[in-house]
Amino acid sequence: MIVPTPTPDLTVDAFTRAFLRELNFGQGVELSASSVNDQYLALARTVRQYLMSRWLETQHRQRESQAKSVAYLSAEFLLGRQLDNALLCTGLEEIADEALRGLDIDLSELRDAEIEPGLGNGGLGRLAACFIDSLSTMSVPSIGYGIRYEYGIFRQTFVDGHQVEQPDTWLELGSPWEFPHPEAAVTVGFGGQTESYTEDGEQRSRWTPAWSVLGMPYNYMVPGYHNGRVSTLRLWSARATRAFDLQIFNSGHYADAVRAQTFAENISKVLYPEDSTPQGKELRLQQQYFFVACSLRNFIEDVLPADFDLHRLPERVMFQLNDTHPVIAVPELMRILVDEKGFGWDEAWEVTQQCFAYTCHTLLPEALEVWPVELLGRLLPRHLEIIYRINDDFLAQVRATYPRDELKARRMSIIAEHPERAVRMAYLATVAGAKVNGVAELHSQLLRDKVLDEFATLWPEKFTNVTNGVTPRRFLRLANPELSRLITDAIGGGWVTDLERLRELEPFVDDPEFTRRFRDVKRRNKLRLAGVLEKRDGLTVDPDSLLDVMVKRLHEYKRQMLKLLHVVTLYDRVTSGELPIEELAPRTIVFGAKAAPGYKMAKDIIWLINSVAATVNADPRVEGRLKVLFPANYNVTLAEKLIPAADLSEQISLAGKEASGTGNMKFALNGALTIGTDDGANVEIRQLVGDENFFLFGLTEPEVTTVVDKGYRPAAYYEANESLRRALDMIASGTFSHGDRHAFEPIVSNLLYQDRFLVLADYQAYLDAQERVDEAYGDEEAWTRSAILNVARTGFFSSDRSIHDYLGRIWGAGPVH
Ligand SMILES: *Cc1c(COP(=O)(O)O)cnc(C)c1O
Repeated sequence: MIVPTPTPDLTVDAFTRAFLRELNFGQGVELSASSVNDQYLALARTVRQYLMSRWLETQHRQRESQAKSVAYLSAEFLLGRQLDNALLCTGLEEIADEALRGLDIDLSELRDAEIEPGLGNGGLGRLAACFIDSLSTMSVPSIGYGIRYEYGIFRQTFVDGHQVEQPDTWLELGSPWEFPHPEAAVTVGFGGQTESYTEDGEQRSRWTPAWSVLGMPYNYMVPGYHNGRVSTLRLWSARATRAFDLQIFNSGHYADAVRAQTFAENISKVLYPEDSTPQGKELRLQQQYFFVACSLRNFIEDVLPADFDLHRLPERVMFQLNDTHPVIAVPELMRILVDEKGFGWDEAWEVTQQCFAYTCHTLLPEALEVWPVELLGRLLPRHLEIIYRINDDFLAQVRATYPRDELKARRMSIIAEHPERAVRMAYLATVAGAKVNGVAELHSQLLRDKVLDEFATLWPEKFTNVTNGVTPRRFLRLANPELSRLITDAIGGGWVTDLERLRELEPFVDDPEFTRRFRDVKRRNKLRLAGVLEKRDGLTVDPDSLLDVMVKRLHEYKRQMLKLLHVVTLYDRVTSGELPIEELAPRTIVFGAKAAPGYKMAKDIIWLINSVAATVNADPRVEGRLKVLFPANYNVTLAEKLIPAADLSEQISLAGKEASGTGNMKFALNGALTIGTDDGANVEIRQLVGDENFFLFGLTEPEVTTVVDKGYRPAAYYEANESLRRALDMIASGTFSHGDRHAFEPIVSNLLYQDRFLVLADYQAYLDAQERVDEAYGDEEAWTRSAILNVARTGFFSSDRSIHDYLGRIWGAGPVH
């Protein structure tokens, strides 16, 4: 393959020239007149040049080779900033820094000019971003498919302590990392009718959609780390079709036609901000079908050779379904094969079943997606027919296996009958997928035993586990440059792509020089965070206090309220005189969390956290000892600053509710100790780091089940526990709301009478565990030792290891060198 334009040399000189060229000819400004945004865009385009030939070559090779690809289908990719990662992967960090300094430009200022693409809600979207990073770094032929939302996750602001959402205008100042390809747009139909007809004696179906939109691909580079690879993330943007445009000119109803155009473009307009609680909105189903229809067509028609025999599709691709959001791809592939490519039903099903695998991300019943038959049939009539036929065939198998058990057939049916007829997307994915995986050992076990137990009995070989991971490039090497340097000085740089090598740090726990440097790094990370929060939020951080961090989406099951009750109890103990202030170990508690805009309880909790923070931080009686910070708009960029500074990682979900968590992994890898329940991947973290380096507390999953089965009575805990009673009474009596007793009444009464997540049941155990934390933090040497061991023993949580497991257990694919 010939790349006509050579890549600039890896020298300061060549970099400077390429940068000035981009500034002058790309941005059309001269240096002295350029804005920070001009400089950022020019820098991004300069770094892009260094990636381009690798990208073209990776694509070329992927087309030429006969290797199997992984197509990762995900409605969310929470990417975080691109510039730093691109500089890292190209080995340009120092060259760029020096080149810009030569022009009197501060690289870190340009870094901060980048608005992160927030095309995801939380863990699920961030997982997808980590996975495409690992796939590229491991040289696995792969492609990510998703949606280019014009507005990603909302920007959170606080007004009088209440969350107020602002639109995320990430595209406003230009988006140098994307490559639009209007010529490769594909048409996606919706609505209309199906009809059957006979061809060569065979009964066939034809779908005539009522309306259609164009899917325009935007390609993003996914650079591998120092391996000469750049994979592709292809995100789809909805446009009006040419038919729409024609209508505009031909109809007398110009305004209506323009409205129709806007209607088409609405499909990729905004990311739905619900995490774990889908709303079942029509536009959401449109989004889902839109992006998978575009992606399947793109893979079949553009990635595969023109004459490819689709009977052999399973040799060339595995479509990994990231939760149920892309599951409509299953009937879509059946439709393509049967209606468009003339396959018989059975041969199409044979192919389809081998091409999909499904990752389940939850245990909460309310998070399992269902689509009303009425809606699905109206929007995608042919797909509903196909789903019915899949279900008929499946239920015939169930009835054959379990004769005279009609109730079982009803329970397992892809179609739910109550409260309305609806398609259970998780069941469809389970029936169609070659494999079904949970995302941590405990979660996969609970999937088999509870959520999908009857499927697991029918097809035990289908079910497997792949414990989640995080990319060490972003969450250690980039986020924590000082710790990275220390590690590399000790054991060499191989850990960046082989994270189990962190084990080699274990002997250094007895090296006084290493432990001193390790402590210094943590302290400097706190100072760095202090600078960031000062500038970003006007908050001050005491670098000598224990930094106690709980950052994640706001959800009742994650139990931010448990953390807050701890804060209120500490505050109460000091202000009531029970605890002399000198005996309170200094703590800075940091919350970061967005609430779904329609989730009233979550928003109330945010208001309460801000109210407690305002009261506590203004009270001289706890000054210098207790501080509560809640920087707004927790996102990947803030995570990268917070996590390396943290001493204590709060992972306190009710056991059996957090599928895995990935925040927990990021913290441990950066040397924070975890206070956590026996839930999700906490279980595996604790097993690896050792009980003595982890603060375990709370009910176990079987104990939770017992408590719930017996009938949870929160009021009994309230009555029996004085400090709990005092904490709740303080909240209820208006201590944090200027005497207003109504403000937080919904929260208090929920905890006392309705709480599904057993906050009060774990309160005392949590407090006791926090006392153990204070005691342990008092012994600096021992704490540092534990922190180092957390780093050394959590290499398992690299997303490279997760991808390795997917390759072996699910995809049957591998790297191509
Ligand atoms: C890692 C990450 C998450 C997931 O955090 P959990 O604690 O696992 O829920 C959410 N948001 C951001 C920005 C992250 O980086």
